[in-house]
Amino acid sequence: MKPLEGMTALVTGASRGIGAAAAVMLAEAGAYVVVHYHTARDKAEATARECGRRGAGALVLQADLGSPDGPDRLKRALDEAGLAPDILVNNAGVSRYGLFTDVTEKDWNEVVGVNLWGLFRLTQLLVPAMVRRRYGRIINVSSVWGIAGASCEVLYSLTKGGVNAFTKALAKELAPSGITVNAVAPGAVETDMMRDFDEAELAALKEAIPAGRLARPEEIASLIRYLALPEAGYITGQIISPNGGWIA
Ligand code: NAP
Repeated sequence: MKPLEGMTALVTGASRGIGAAAAVMLAEAGAYVVVHYHTARDKAEATARECGRRGAGALVLQADLGSPDGPDRLKRALDEAGLAPDILVNNAGVSRYGLFTDVTEKDWNEVVGVNLWGLFRLTQLLVPAMVRRRYGRIINVSSVWGIAGASCEVLYSLTKGGVNAFTKALAKELAPSGITVNAVAPGAVETDMMRDFDEAELAALKEAIPAGRLARPEEIASLIRYLALPEAGYITGQIISPNGGWIA
């Protein structure tokens, strides 16, 4: 029997990158996976097909988690499908690169909207069923910049620092209900999020990382998978940073 058989996992932002890799690994571990996406329906369907090939069923659902009612709409779609996730991977996220003084209200609304509001509200909507079941695994995808802070990514760092504080606080509130809440805070990962970096910037980045390279999405997803397992039940409130030795 696979460790997640009989469980449902929702992975937000599972159309690409870390979320897609996590969805496939959770399916491999036996979970029925809800593959959430925002704009990339084709890619989300490809992720779902890959989940299906690994033996578990999958459902594709769309929502803009940065919009005021996006999380509620996603919850309604889950209800219509008769699904109440045992595992929630809050992975969807957006970044912005630029000087602090150039950050606009629009940037604020977009980045805070997805990275904080979407994560906060969706978790709020899914926790009651976990409490009733006295079981749950919540895994928030944060960033090293939420720990260390990054120049020219002040807004992004702020949101990921918020995710880390949210993780620690909620873990304390939900531990008595058998629900763990952890954050995975990756260093640099080979995904679309890194596409704005040019060759020279990528070379400088690799030089600064003791491992000498960026992570593959699967190297982050394997930690997400572990935290989703029943056997990880004593790990909660932790911010774990797979970053190639970059930031201690
Ligand atoms: P990515 O390849 O850019 O994928 C981002 C995902 O988020 C996509 O599935 C996208 O959906 C979804 N998304 C974007 N805007 C959304 C919105 N308004 N509502 C709902 N979903 C939305 O990113 P990634 O690199 O895999 O990043 C995943 C997570 O890891 C993020 O939280 C990111 O901050 C974190 N992280 C990444 C790195 C890195 O180096 N890549 C490092 C540290 C932390 P669509 O494709 O359907 O539009």
